Amino acid sequence: MLSVDEALELVLGQAARCAATSCQSADALGLVLAEDVASDIDSPPHDKSLVDGYAIVVEDLATGHAELDVLEEVTAGAVPTRVVGRGQATRIMTGAPLPEGATGVVMIETTQLLGSDGERARVRIATTRPAAVGQNIMRRASSMRAGQRVLSSGTRLRAIELGVLAEVGRTQVSVVPRPTVAVLSTGNELVPPAQVPGAGQIRNSNGTLLAACARAAGAVPVELGVARDEESALREAIGLGLQSDVLVISGGVSAGVLDPVPSVMSELGVRQVFHKVQLKPGKPLWFGTLDHAQGRRLVFGLPGNPVSSLVCFELFVRPALGKLMGNSDAALAEVWATLQTEYRHRGDRPTCHPARLVAAEERGWTVEPLRWQGSGDLRTLVEANALACFPAGDRVHAPGDRVRVLRLPAAQ
Ligand code: AMP
Ligand code: MG
Repeated sequence: MLSVDEALELVLGQAARCAATSCQSADALGLVLAEDVASDIDSPPHDKSLVDGYAIVVEDLATGHAELDVLEEVTAGAVPTRVVGRGQATRIMTGAPLPEGATGVVMIETTQLLGSDGERARVRIATTRPAAVGQNIMRRASSMRAGQRVLSSGTRLRAIELGVLAEVGRTQVSVVPRPTVAVLSTGNELVPPAQVPGAGQIRNSNGTLLAACARAAGAVPVELGVARDEESALREAIGLGLQSDVLVISGGVSAGVLDPVPSVMSELGVRQVFHKVQLKPGKPLWFGTLDHAQGRRLVFGLPGNPVSSLVCFELFVRPALGKLMGNSDAALAEVWATLQTEYRHRGDRPTCHPARLVAAEERGWTVEPLRWQGSGDLRTLVEANALACFPAGDRVHAPGDRVRVLRLPAAQ
């Protein structure tokens, strides 16, 4: 049976970045840029004042004291009309263009406007230090120059990058698009969440769970509902699911009598890459691909128990979606933490145990495995923010032992 790392390598080996498309920059949050972006402007577009104050010739303030004639007032958005010479000053607001002739700006707090006699306003300036050339001025193009590359292809777009795109006038950009992920739940026992289960029935929680996992991973989920455990129903639903970039099926991949997913897959031409992984929970994981006219489809058959489905999604589907989206660090973040309580591990498969990870100031990360009833117990994971990973083998892990922990993604 494959190890988790071997299986993940096979999955990533089949996942290629989606072809770039153009989109509205405002909708590109979280996507990966598929082109280099250059500025079409100098920023700032002019030498500008960084403060509210007076633009002066700094030599006039060599002693820190001066009384100057006020020529005009320039607010942000306006342009100066007068050249500032010796003995003169222009009142200027933050962001406004520096008048010609001025070599520095003094802050309003160091000045006192004297009564204007008719046309002539004067300002008295008293500073603790002599003025220096360039003070309180941001030079033209000091942030970026027209033609300069400001963003590189491959950058994941945060709010900051969207702001930069707006600054350089790019309302449309080329990005790696979000893949579509069809989610199909299988099982004769399943009823929709809105229904009260009858005898022998349970609600389909995986459909909602996995669609939300796909959305949280940046993809666009397409929930297909429930297919019964019979070949014709499965064939039809899987056929529909293969229209999406990725198909995630829950249930029907274990060794039960009604686990027909693998055989239907092969009938539909989906090539099996592997079936079963050394992992608890999640051993029955099935993975295959189909080279479709519209591109390669990745198909994941996740075991039906909700926590098995969740763990397999986070360990295998999430990094695959990241690769499709050009994002190489989509896998769950990993930290090492100090175990808080004894943990007895049994069995020949490594275990991902739901856990509570806490940043305990001077002690670094600490982790506490939760009391958990197994892979059908999703409720306990409401308290989990991580998966504690214990290696295969029978062993008692003592408090104080260091444990590898995968952090579950926070709500987005
Ligand atoms: P399976 O992998 O189909 O053998 O299912 C394993 C267990 O998971 C069974 O107890 C199922 O009832 C349960 N299960 C399967 N599918 C779902 C689902 N969509 N939502 C909640 N539980 C499920
Ligand atoms: Mg089933």
